[in-house]
Amino acid sequence: MDYLPIFLRLTDQPVLVVGGGAVAARKVSLLRQANARVTVVSPELEDSLTQLKANDEIAHIPGQYQDDMVRQYQLVIAATDDAEVNQKIFGQAKAFNIPVNVVDQPALCSFIMPSIVDRSPVVLAISTGGSSPVLARMIRSRLEALIPAGYGRLAALAQKYRSVIKDKFENVEQRRKFWEGALEGKVSELVLSGRDKEAERVLQAAINSNDEAILEGKGEVYLVGAGPGDPDLLTFRALRLMQRADVVLYDRLVSDEIVAMVRRDAEKIYVGKEKSNHAVPQRDINRLLVRLAREGKRVLRLKGGDPFIFGRGGEEIKDLFHEGIPFQVVPGVTAAAGCAAYAGIPLTHREFSQSVSFVTGHLKDGTFNLNWSLLSQPNQTVVIYMGLTGLEIISRKLIEHGVSHDMPAALVQQGTTRNQRVITATLSTLHDRVKEQDVVAPTLVIIGEVVTLQDQLKWFDPAEESSGIAISNALG
Ligand code: SAH
Repeated sequence: MDYLPIFLRLTDQPVLVVGGGAVAARKVSLLRQANARVTVVSPELEDSLTQLKANDEIAHIPGQYQDDMVRQYQLVIAATDDAEVNQKIFGQAKAFNIPVNVVDQPALCSFIMPSIVDRSPVVLAISTGGSSPVLARMIRSRLEALIPAGYGRLAALAQKYRSVIKDKFENVEQRRKFWEGALEGKVSELVLSGRDKEAERVLQAAINSNDEAILEGKGEVYLVGAGPGDPDLLTFRALRLMQRADVVLYDRLVSDEIVAMVRRDAEKIYVGKEKSNHAVPQRDINRLLVRLAREGKRVLRLKGGDPFIFGRGGEEIKDLFHEGIPFQVVPGVTAAAGCAAYAGIPLTHREFSQSVSFVTGHLKDGTFNLNWSLLSQPNQTVVIYMGLTGLEIISRKLIEHGVSHDMPAALVQQGTTRNQRVITATLSTLHDRVKEQDVVAPTLVIIGEVVTLQDQLKWFDPAEESSGIAISNALG
């Protein structure tokens, strides 16, 4: 190890930054986050530093660095473009044993600045020993994705109860077990889903009742939107809960790739859902969720797109609510948003469309229950979920209610996946165009002037090697 990682306490400590440009400003900002008392030496200051000076948030010594200026400081950073000055600052700081960093010059540094993932009070510092700041940044962005934003609040809660727990358990082993229970179980899940007060109540209950089973957080349901297909569109929270589940219930819309990302030893239950061929009736799914949670399992209900958009998510959690089973709902990218983005069709546009409607084209008893006159108004986009079977009738109805027969319309098949296909036509011709081709479910229909923008905005076409995605894949 060439460098010893340490965390410096700089609150109210004097720190010198030599240089007044953009690089210096970045270092000043970091030092101020650590509450250091910063003095900047420089003939000129860039705008953000001038502002800090005006607000008395930093001190400024106008002019060049003078000999031995480093002396009164705990830490020195040099960010000048004058090699001689940098060398001098390094030499003088060393002479007084003051830690010094000359930006981007490892040879002139007694300490180096790591890349940081900040979940204060949790802070991760990554260093490549100065060998590759770019690599450090890449590692950093991976960790950013891995460490939930709520870890800071979780650590703060642990801090608050640290001495209480210490007094309660004299035995180190018991203490460790208690904290593991809290930080791996319900308390952490509540904090990470933003329910800090409830988390604190659970922690207190476990402390007061001497019952650590309270911390386990078993017997709950996560209703999670898995997005339209591309696994990259999962949310961080969805991914975290997928790793936590004991059992997962998923249906046809959730891609195999996504199911494969669920914790390996979780039990996986396919509950189907094909139009007019529900593998498991909705009623039974609702009951199954309740039963599994009652058995003390962490149950993941994984749904295509967003659970609250044509996903019957409301029905699934109604029973849970009545049965008093804890649950949380995680939104997902809905098919309309996913398909529109990947097809290059903006759902709204200042010029063409000021509103967008999501409607279901699912026929109930062979008829529709849609407000045709509303859907036929100009300057809007209509997105139809489950619209393939009813497409002909839908188009006819809209035309009857005044929409032009040459209104642009598109059908997106298996949007956001490697099998995505987009068929564009007009309201009167889309049905025939679709019939000519072998279309594979799921499909989404988008109607409105915005469809014409596809010509200019298309970037993703898995059938074409030259599409944007192919290029970005090639770049890794
Ligand atoms: N809750 C889901 C919608 C469920 S209804 C969501 O928010 O997306 C099922 C319908 O969604 C399908 O019939 C289809 O119209 C649409 N759909 C879902 N995923 C799709 C995809 N990848 N491509 C095209 N349409 C999709």
